[in-house]
Amino acid sequence: MIFKPLPDKPDHPRLEEEILARWEEERTFERLRERNRGGPTFSFIDGPVTANKGLLIHTAWGRTLKDVFQRYKALRGFDQRYQNGFDCQGLWIEVGVEHELGLNSKREIEEYGLENFARKCREAVVRSANELWRGSKRLGQWMDWGKDYFTFSDTNIEYVWRMLKTVHERRWLYLGHRATEWCPRCGTSISQHELIGSYVDRADPSLFVRFPLLDRPGEAVVIWTTTPWTLPANVAAAVNPDAEYGRRANGEWVAVARYPDDTFVERLRGAELVGWRYRGPFDELAPGAGVEHRVIPWDEVSLDDGTGVVHIAPGAGSEDFELAQEHGLPVLTPVDEAGRFYDEYGWLHGLSTTEAAEQIIGDLEEKGVLVEAGLHEHRYPECWRCHTPLIFRIADDWFISVRDLRQPMLDANATVRWTPEYMGKRMDDWLHNMGDWNISRRRYYGLPLPFYPCSCGHLNVIGSRQELEERAVAGLEQLEELRRPWIDRVPVRCEQCGEPVERIKEVGDVWLDAGIVPFSTLGWQNPKWIPEGYATGAARGLTKADLPDHAYWEKWFPADWVSEMREQIRLWFYSQLFMSVVLTGQAPFRSVLGYEKMLDENGREMHGSWGNTIEAPDAFARMGADVMRWQFCAQPPDRDLWFGYGPADEIKRKLLTLWHSVKFFVDYANIAGFRPSWEALEPESEAALDRWLVERTRGLLADASAFYDGYRADEVIRAFETYLDDLSNWYIRRSRRRFWEGEEAALRTLWFALVQTLRVLAPILPFLTDHLWRVLVLDGPESVHLAGWPEVAEPDRALLDEIAEVRRVVELGRQARSTSGIKLRQPLRRLVVEGARVNGHGGEIADELRVKEVVFGRVEAVEVRVKPNLPVLGPKLGKELGAVRAALEAGEFEELEDGRFRVLGRELGPDEVLVERGGREGWAVASADGVTVALELALDDELRLEADAYDLIHLVNTMRKEQGLELTDRIVLTVPERMRTLVERHADWIKGEVLATEIRVAGDEISLAKT
Ligand SMILES: [Zn+2]
Ligand SMILES: [Zn+2]
Repeated sequence: MIFKPLPDKPDHPRLEEEILARWEEERTFERLRERNRGGPTFSFIDGPVTANKGLLIHTAWGRTLKDVFQRYKALRGFDQRYQNGFDCQGLWIEVGVEHELGLNSKREIEEYGLENFARKCREAVVRSANELWRGSKRLGQWMDWGKDYFTFSDTNIEYVWRMLKTVHERRWLYLGHRATEWCPRCGTSISQHELIGSYVDRADPSLFVRFPLLDRPGEAVVIWTTTPWTLPANVAAAVNPDAEYGRRANGEWVAVARYPDDTFVERLRGAELVGWRYRGPFDELAPGAGVEHRVIPWDEVSLDDGTGVVHIAPGAGSEDFELAQEHGLPVLTPVDEAGRFYDEYGWLHGLSTTEAAEQIIGDLEEKGVLVEAGLHEHRYPECWRCHTPLIFRIADDWFISVRDLRQPMLDANATVRWTPEYMGKRMDDWLHNMGDWNISRRRYYGLPLPFYPCSCGHLNVIGSRQELEERAVAGLEQLEELRRPWIDRVPVRCEQCGEPVERIKEVGDVWLDAGIVPFSTLGWQNPKWIPEGYATGAARGLTKADLPDHAYWEKWFPADWVSEMREQIRLWFYSQLFMSVVLTGQAPFRSVLGYEKMLDENGREMHGSWGNTIEAPDAFARMGADVMRWQFCAQPPDRDLWFGYGPADEIKRKLLTLWHSVKFFVDYANIAGFRPSWEALEPESEAALDRWLVERTRGLLADASAFYDGYRADEVIRAFETYLDDLSNWYIRRSRRRFWEGEEAALRTLWFALVQTLRVLAPILPFLTDHLWRVLVLDGPESVHLAGWPEVAEPDRALLDEIAEVRRVVELGRQARSTSGIKLRQPLRRLVVEGARVNGHGGEIADELRVKEVVFGRVEAVEVRVKPNLPVLGPKLGKELGAVRAALEAGEFEELEDGRFRVLGRELGPDEVLVERGGREGWAVASADGVTVALELALDDELRLEADAYDLIHLVNTMRKEQGLELTDRIVLTVPERMRTLVERHADWIKGEVLATEIRVAGDEISLAKT
């Protein structure tokens, strides 16, 4: 055997494990990198994966895309970086560890102890990193495992410090006092970009409440709220000054536009209500008692919902807070960091915002000011980490002003090539609308913000570890990592007044950690290369990543390409862009591939509780990595991916066609003793079909190269699918006889096509292609991944178009045949083809469709049936419809250009009629895109006898298989007397097709014997 025979179908998971072992043993990836070292560079920067779980299939999707394009670029000889990254700090990690330890609040974390908590967080990261390594390797991702970056490294933290110091020097850093979205469970504010995707459908209380007017007895303004807990913090009621308000007979004032059907006894402009004093809903509680409640004007009061009067609680809403600044209103802050009422709120004290709701409603009812209480369905934001509904709370947070950065960031984004394009526009939208960046979080396991505000009024910002050490007053000896709690014990000397000053307690937004990566991992402004220099702080012992020098940064920055999910537009893509524009004024990447969401195979979100999530280990075991990768890659990036085992089975079927094509070659090449040579890859056959396949293969290669260059793996797959159909359903089908005869030109051509196909697919299906490569290539590179990218040449497109047209005609012919009900084996007399751009090829078409003759010319056999399109034409024609319908039915119409028809003197457009084209009696017709074929169905004795011959050949070949005969075995065939005429007429033909040396006529049955 020259080629190792293949089983009937591949066992993907087993084959993949074998290939993984081969790569390891043969150092395939290392050798690939060694080969490309010093070549042109292609700079990829990996977005860090959160190290709080194992490999999720969502993550596997992104990792596959990254791997596919890095593999492609490697085949093309590009020198690349393969550094994987882990995100290791922030709420993601903290909340996971809280669950693990059974801690439920910040108080419990502090009781547990911050040292221990920090160590637990690191342990969780290490655990997750190990899982992610394992899963990613199984997926086939080639990365520099072991030299990963971990964002909790001190080096990474120092780089963020440096950026923050720059921001401070440019006067963009400030401490803001404002209302922000707040998670009461996590006890921290949440910034704008963290709200993406965190809106959920919720039913909240809906209350209409009367605020009795002090100077107009018996009258009241009515407000609407969905957050009862904010009522004790009410200080004002806002009206739209330009809107009209009306008083109902019962004294209630509301906006007229909201209640157009109500009767009002008095009407006033909103502006005339301004200044009215009212009794607050909770004046009996101390905070409310001291407030003079008034009606204020606000242009933004909506007349789309509520009553047109808005309750204002500046301590519990962001717009409310801004209004308070404008009108000098008092700010009542009702709840603490944990979202519980402060003591001065009397009977409410200690209740959470949700617990308080019911009590508040009851109390309002007792006071007689509750007009109506119900439920309101709306979209409401929850904490992206713990799913607690967010509240608004006044807090002092650290912000970076974006005023001076907005335009430079827009300019930088304009230099980036986004795929799909609309994602770049999304980024623009975000940049236009982004508010100042709230960078502080009141948490523990995160980047320590290096801010030391002194009582003298000076803000000290530390920019590096060295600076910290120079200015430290105490605590350096215990500084294990640049992290809480250790860093909190290192006060510094104020550079203004010389007094010791403490760090603020806040940590940084996790997107600072990830956004600095293009600087911290590439050695920006680092004077000297430090081996393993990135492995500092918590990252020590986890990675061998170097801290390169500035020359290295110059070489690899900006990234040529980055790729993440669409939601990263406002997260990682944004934070990187932000920091890069601050530090260098330019975008950190040249091109981006984004992609949409993953859903289950029925298009539903995946939820653990719905039982439709898929675990990566199960997917590896049940479908294999190649099939997963195919599923990920086949997805156009602008649409959601519907992932599942059903689609996986379909993919396996497609891959089986490839497998069978290779197996077909292997079987016949082994019989023929054909031995190809890598040196003579390109065949030089003169046969038309061979020349076509060579060009077709060139076409695939040229198209695939362009699609890979445009980061469109889905297009590569689509191109391959059409190619595979041409290869197996045209080339192999039409060349069968040549393979049976062991014709070398055919074998050589097919081998070339298969080998080139494997190279095209190698980035997407690294396992299957390498497995088949090792079967097909006997004297070339030992792995497809070391074979380089084939030379790309422009194919003969005219030839390709011509054969594509021939295949189209054949397809139509098959369609026509299938409508006729005549079996496929029955030869027919004639096919008429109209409108096809083919010269010749009549013989091939006849052969494929089993007709005696192909005629190119006008198809007369078509019958056009036209019916009125009732929903359109009915209303238009009215009573005339009946006459028009009758005329159409009787065929009394004329067909005009562009699908129009003339009937009874009027013209009907293409949308007004339903057209059916069928064959006349005795013909089967099919047409599409301007090509029409008609198949003559009449049979005669000669045609019937040929059909019998085909039936016999089919039957005998089936029997050969059933009896386990080899492809090359010769037989003696015996047929019964009733087949005498048949075998006499077609003896040679039948003998040739079933490899019979002799046909005997005897007995009642068909039988065969091996000679
Ligand atoms: Zn939370
Ligand atoms: Zn000072």
